[in-house]
Amino acid sequence: MTAFRRMEETTPEQYADIGMKSGLEIHQQLDTGKKLFCRCPVRPYTDEFHAEILRHMRPTLSELGEYDGTALMEFKTKKEIIYQIHQDTVCTYEMDDTPPFELNQEALDIALEMTMLLGCKLVSELHIARKQYLDGSIPTGFQRTTILGVDGSIPFDGGRLIRIRQLGLEEDACREVSDEGHRRVYRTDRLGIPLMETVTEPDMRTPQEVAAVAHRLRWLARSTGRVRTGIGAARQDVNVSVEGGRRVEIKGVSRIPLIPLLVHTEAYRQVALLEIEKELERRKITPSSFESSTHDITDTLRATSYYPVAEALKNGLEVRAVVLRGYRGILSMRTQPETTFAREISDRLRVIACLDILPNIAHSDMEGETLSSTEWTKIKKLCRTGDNDAVVVVWGNEQDVETGAKEIVIRAREALDGVPNETRRALPDGTNGFERILPGPDRMYPDTDLPPLAITEERIRKIQEILPELPWAREERYLEMGLRPDIARRMSIAPERDLFDRIVERTEYDPSLIAFFLLGRFRAECRWG
Ligand SMILES: [Zn+2]
Repeated sequence: MTAFRRMEETTPEQYADIGMKSGLEIHQQLDTGKKLFCRCPVRPYTDEFHAEILRHMRPTLSELGEYDGTALMEFKTKKEIIYQIHQDTVCTYEMDDTPPFELNQEALDIALEMTMLLGCKLVSELHIARKQYLDGSIPTGFQRTTILGVDGSIPFDGGRLIRIRQLGLEEDACREVSDEGHRRVYRTDRLGIPLMETVTEPDMRTPQEVAAVAHRLRWLARSTGRVRTGIGAARQDVNVSVEGGRRVEIKGVSRIPLIPLLVHTEAYRQVALLEIEKELERRKITPSSFESSTHDITDTLRATSYYPVAEALKNGLEVRAVVLRGYRGILSMRTQPETTFAREISDRLRVIACLDILPNIAHSDMEGETLSSTEWTKIKKLCRTGDNDAVVVVWGNEQDVETGAKEIVIRAREALDGVPNETRRALPDGTNGFERILPGPDRMYPDTDLPPLAITEERIRKIQEILPELPWAREERYLEMGLRPDIARRMSIAPERDLFDRIVERTEYDPSLIAFFLLGRFRAECRWG
């Protein structure tokens, strides 16, 4: 087996061998006084709220008359969505789909500046689009978004260019507070804050390169001096694929140092899923020969001493066994460190059937640790299981256990096709878990509330006049002056940088001393003064 390899022991050639590619979407909040499409102020986040609103999410048909995969998935979860509202930071625009105000011009100028710094071709006219969001993180079900420029690039190590696909401006979504059972809670203070989205092409070839490019793009954004900093002000989505796999998106990574391990682990998860696909092919299981069956085993397990099931039965829940013909051993195949294919199934049940108390399944590849051998024998007899089959046991209320049993079959069947198109969430240990099915391409549609907005020559010229020197060029210059690397980096985006340049030009003082004075003492005195 190729899987599994530790990141420290993996060479760039080995990533090339598995055909790893990765790209980034960087979301950066802009430092404006007001939100993007209404006049609500941007305030620090708070736990305080004045009202709660309850919504149920419903899928809507796309223009083609089809349900999007993500939409269907969200519908299956039957979630209640609660919004906790602070009266100072939300108006009827965010909550109610009342028409938007004019796009925030301050936000537009900052985003245009970044678009130019990335060397993108600017659009001549802004068109606002709606992007469907069905997880409830945007109460109206869609996010307003617009593209400012395309086809840029930034220089990277060794004279390479990382291509920038596009830069967009959009409204931030709600903050998720909790997600338990059939209830998800959001706070609305983040909703509507201007967010700049920079999308790269999948030009990165090692996990370390992805982190380095993320760092470079955040550095560039900070050089405008007009972006928000602090926890959650910048967040990355990282997409990863390997040869024969599919593009998987890891959402909402807030810290850059986490990126390399996440990318590495995802690349080798895909390699592992491709090996499982090959193994099933070797067993001659195909989508048309795939067989499964579901059985009610609630009564069979009445007397069990396996704690999770015993508790479930005590609470009046039901138990099902799902037989996967020919799948013996598949569920214990490794997909991530300390993680097997069984978790791919368990994750889907957690998210889609809301069976989020773990463990939520037991399976016949790890008999010893769950039900007793007598119980497994009884179940297998009842389900007419053969030696080559796998059995997955799931428990929950009638509705959830039915949804769960269906999802077990769906995920097992998807194993025949390698890597499913998914978005996944980053976990603190560097592994990732299922989040949702990747949305289809038809989730964008034109917004009819706002007319197109022309970007005038005058406006472009004004921004060009104040366009800062690229931070890496500036850093280079400061290093040549003899500044320490950490000081050169800090000064490259410091508000005092122009003052620094002028003093260096007009005096004979040592630049290091001037930098020290400006970054250290001067700032401290300003704070006291
Ligand atoms: Zn508002």
